[in-house]
Parts: sequence; C-alpha cells; structure tokens
Amino acid sequence: MTVISNHMPTKELQALDAAHHMHPFTAANELEAIGARVITRASGVTLTDSEGNQILDAMSGLWCVNVGYGREELAQAALRQMRELPFYNTFFMTTHVPAIALATKLAELAPGDLNHVFFAGSGSEANDTNIRLVRHYWSEKGKPSKKVIIGRKNGYHGSTMGGASLGGMKSMHAQGGLPIPDIHHIDQPHWWAEGGDMTPEEFGLERARQLEAAILEIGEDRVAAFIGEPIQGAGGVIIPPSTYWPEIQRICDKYEILLIADEVICGFGRTGNWFGSQTVGIRPDIMTIAKGLTSGYVPMGGSLVSDEIARVIAENDFNHGYTYSGHPVAAAVALENLRIIEEEKLVERVREDVGPYLAAKWKALEAHPMVGEANSVGLMATLALTPNKATRAKFAGKEGAIGLRCRTRCFANGLVMRHVGDRMIIAPPLVISHAEIDTLVERAYRSVDEAYISAKADGLFV
Ligand SMILES: *Cc1c(COP(=O)(O)O)cnc(C)c1O
Repeated sequence: MTVISNHMPTKELQALDAAHHMHPFTAANELEAIGARVITRASGVTLTDSEGNQILDAMSGLWCVNVGYGREELAQAALRQMRELPFYNTFFMTTHVPAIALATKLAELAPGDLNHVFFAGSGSEANDTNIRLVRHYWSEKGKPSKKVIIGRKNGYHGSTMGGASLGGMKSMHAQGGLPIPDIHHIDQPHWWAEGGDMTPEEFGLERARQLEAAILEIGEDRVAAFIGEPIQGAGGVIIPPSTYWPEIQRICDKYEILLIADEVICGFGRTGNWFGSQTVGIRPDIMTIAKGLTSGYVPMGGSLVSDEIARVIAENDFNHGYTYSGHPVAAAVALENLRIIEEEKLVERVREDVGPYLAAKWKALEAHPMVGEANSVGLMATLALTPNKATRAKFAGKEGAIGLRCRTRCFANGLVMRHVGDRMIIAPPLVISHAEIDTLVERAYRSVDEAYISAKADGLFV
C-alpha cells in the first residue's frame, strides 16, 4: 500500500482527493478538473501549500482559528487530556472535569444570566439543539403551539436539516426539501444591496419591523423564537444599520419571543467584545457558540442558555444529546484556548488596537474605482465590488463572476480572501500584527485592481 504523505507530488494527492473525498459546497467535476489546493502546514496567520507557497489566511480557516495556527499550548492540552481521559459521555448522570470547568468558564464569560451550556459537536448541531430546546421550553410553559422560529433570508446557521432550515440560503433550501416545517424567514438588514433610497437608519427599522409584521401574521401564540447572527458572516459580512438590533430586541420583548443570537462567528473576540451581542447591544436568551470556542483545533459547539429557560425545562428529561456533547478533549482544548484569549488580551486587542488599525487601512480601499463600500467591525470586514458606486449597481452578467475573479487573483497574490457574490470578505486571526495587516490590505488592493483590469478587458465592466 502507498503511504500518502506530504511528500507525494501534488498531482497525485489531488487525483486521490478527487477520486475519494467528497467536499462540502463543491462541484466534484470542477474540483477534479482544477485540483484542490493542498494545505500542508500553518503557523501564525500563514498557510503553506504542497507547492511551498506561503499564503496569508485572512479567513482564519473558516472564521475559527482566532488564536492563530501552531499554538503548542493547545496541542499539549489535547495530549494531556487524551492520556488522562480521552472520552467519557455526559449522559446518564455522569460528568467529567473538563466539561465542568468549561461550562463554568463559559457561564462566567457570557453576558447576563446565560449561565447554562448544552454542548454539541458543531455550530449546526447546537442550532438543532436550539430548535428542540425552544419548542420544548414553550411546551413546558403550557404553550405547545409556540413552535415557529423566525430567521432571515441569507442568514447562515449551519448545514444540518435544522441549521440549514433556520438559515436563509436559497441554494441550500433548493436541495433536500428544506426548510423543515414551522420555520419562517424575513428579509435581511442589507442596506447596500436592498436599501434603495432609504437612509441606513430608516432601512434598519423597516427590516426589523418585518419581524413584528411576521409575528402578527403568524400569531403571537405560535411564534417561539427569532434567530439571527449579530453580524451576518457567510452571507457576506453584512453589518446592520445601528437602528436594527435595538428594534429587534424591543419586538422580542413586547411579544415574549425568545431571542437566539448565533454567535458562532461573532463570539470569542471577533467583533472586539467577547460576544457580538455585546457589540450590537442585545440581551439574547440563547447564544449559539462554536468555531472560535476552540479556535478550530478540535470540533466543538454549544448553546448558552438563560437561567429562566434552564429552570423551566429542569423538571423533566430533555430527550436530546450527542455522543460527543462535552467531549473531554474538545473541552480541554477550549479551556486552554479561552485562557490564551484572556492572557494575551485578544478581545481588548481587537477592540482597541488591531480592529481600529484594520478599519483605517480597509476604509482606504474605497478609493479604488470598483469598491463601493469598505466596512469592518472588529476583525471582520467586507468590500462591495460595483461598477457604479453612486447607484450601488450590480455587474452585468452572472452575479459573483467579478468576486470569483478577485478571489482567484487573491490566491495568486498569496492571500485567502473569500467572495460572496461580488462582495469580498475577511476575518483574520485575532493575533494578526500591524505589518501583516499592511500586507493583507496591499494584497487585497492589488487583487481587486487586477480583477478590475481583467473585467474591463473582457467587457464585463459595463
Ligand atoms: C459556521 C456557522 C455555523 C455552523 O457551524 P458548523 O460548526 O459548521 O456546523 C452556524 N452559524 C454560524 C453563524 C456560522 O458561521
């Protein structure tokens, strides 16, 4: 049998990959034709591929490697825990120290009375938990008809049946018969694309009030919860107008609708606070966590739940759980990751140092003729590519074609920047240095400019 290792020629690795490995959100034929990029190692904010190229990872993997790559402490934490107790479950009146310690730590970090954690293996699983949890909660409160959960178009809450249903990604709903029953979607607070002649503030209110209209239409007695990302990530780093979240909070309070903040991206320092809910000023009843919880070194997710919800469901069994709920190795790594974030003051660093530093550099990209808006919150940032800044126009032809060109140029220039349609987004590790931000922004500018020149040459820029 051949030993498959880093030393194999890239072409052979790519052929085996295409033959046997089914990739998420990927057309297999295209993958086979092009060949996947093989990442072999990483350190700090820099990836190395099988050809020896160094690439600045401005996406923190998939929004998760908050403390950067190559942290020996996390490897040691996993090793210690694997030696001591690699696995035990938390079902049947059993527990273990890493789960106890992590739950206690999360209760301390979480705002308000979110003092209880239900662990999952991922963000998607945690959102599935949330669906069952809020329905069970209302049922225990004697209101079993409160089942409907309202999410948003172009929101992202994961890829399981439940997570993808809560999310509002049309292309996901089109496959596999989604959404599941009793999930409803309202429009997103995406002023740049959908705000028309309204001011951002007017538009924020208009979009939030769609929640009130939906509650009135569906019936207050049928609506269980509203779910949203404080700042939409996968949808394109959509930063809502300042009026949006306070109005959502008012409506949830008025109609007694539970508010679920999906903090899978915004949590653990990304926006300059421990949680995005603090940045946008809301008081959620439940927060979904994953990604930055372990900085992606091992998979883990969870639901942080209020005292009130925990109290109401305490009487009976909650018939729900995952084999890996509270996995000891994941919990040990999460704890060590949180220790690093605290010790290195990464949350404060994002708020007071690298966040403002990136914001100033990023804003300067608006000088480019194809960049309509360049905005950021903490260390997540977005660029709208447009043929006409004044009218916020879309490109002629297929949506996303220019964004894809730009992303291709980014790879060639040693930068991972993602495109969502014709919008470019970044979310670099929280440990990124000023010099690395300079490099990031310079490569981003060069890539946008190359996409602009080639699009013009091909007559796409009309
Ligand atoms: C990534 C993501 C999820 C899903 O998390 P997985 O770990 O991929 O299941 C859920 N919500 C948000 C906001 C995300 O960004």
